[in-house]
Amino acid sequence: LAQLFRPLDMLGWVYRNVRQGLIDMEAMFGIVDTEAEIEDMQGAPDLIVTNGHVRLQDLRFGYDADREILKGIDVDVPPGSMLAVVGPSGAGKSTLSRLLFRFYEPTGGRITIDGQDINKVTQKSLRAAIGIVPQDSVLFNDTIGYNIGYGREGAGQAEIEAAAKGAAIHDFIAQLPHGYDSQVGERGLKLSGGEKQRVAIARTLLKDPPILVLDEATSALDSRTEAAIQETLRNVAARRTSIVIAHRLSTVVDADQIVVLDQGQVAERGTHAQLLRKNGIYAEMWTRQQSEREEEEAEAAE
Ligand code: ADP
Ligand code: MG
Repeated sequence: LAQLFRPLDMLGWVYRNVRQGLIDMEAMFGIVDTEAEIEDMQGAPDLIVTNGHVRLQDLRFGYDADREILKGIDVDVPPGSMLAVVGPSGAGKSTLSRLLFRFYEPTGGRITIDGQDINKVTQKSLRAAIGIVPQDSVLFNDTIGYNIGYGREGAGQAEIEAAAKGAAIHDFIAQLPHGYDSQVGERGLKLSGGEKQRVAIARTLLKDPPILVLDEATSALDSRTEAAIQETLRNVAARRTSIVIAHRLSTVVDADQIVVLDQGQVAERGTHAQLLRKNGIYAEMWTRQQSEREEEEAEAAE
């Protein structure tokens, strides 16, 4: 019996794994030097998601006290709808996604989900409710199957493969000598940015969360693979509240609401059609991307 019960060993194992999990989560977001660890309030209740109504109210944030990055953002994302966030690089889009996952806390204003301030609920329950595909995914030094299965504890091989198919990465995995047992990361197979992105998407498909946050989730993919995955993502997003940060505007034309973020402020908002009529920043971005696309297509046709 003494051999079955090794409480101290167990504790050590749990500690290492929890610790590693935290480190990996931070690495996943490219957050290396988090100064202040976010802590749950004493006796914080769990978040209870009823409809998935997300609201940002006068949301303010800066990584440093003397430089505000988000300067008072007000956005209402009704249950089940899709919000697209677009805008130039450096506008604060990824920062917004980090605040949603509470990697940082706002310096002003708040984010609520179904009326509950996300600062006042347990991080565990918040992170269970949100599926996030970050801009730069970092994988665990483990098998590719583990990296996908991490999305949901206890997932079986069939579910993992179904998620991989949805993310258009199954065929790639199937032709590896060790298949789903192939090691990835520093000590194993080096995956390209696009392959890592697809693993992160598969993980999120498996997690099947009530709220979805995609931060340029397909930016590293070629346009054919992107088109294949967009279809899956559209289906997933259609059934839940989703916040999609997009580089290519063609992927968000159907969004219920598009917000153009510029220097930490909402510069424009509306549907695709409304924003085109406005003839502002969005319309200009759209025209520029359309002509780039035509050039690409002309080149491909040659
Ligand atoms: P976007 O995703 O729209 O390109 P980001 O949210 O990544 O923009 O960045 C917004 C601003 O915040 C940029 O000026 C960037 O340099 C700064 N920034 C991003 N991450 C950090 C960080 N960890 N520490 C300090 N400044 C940061
Ligand atoms: Mg970004």
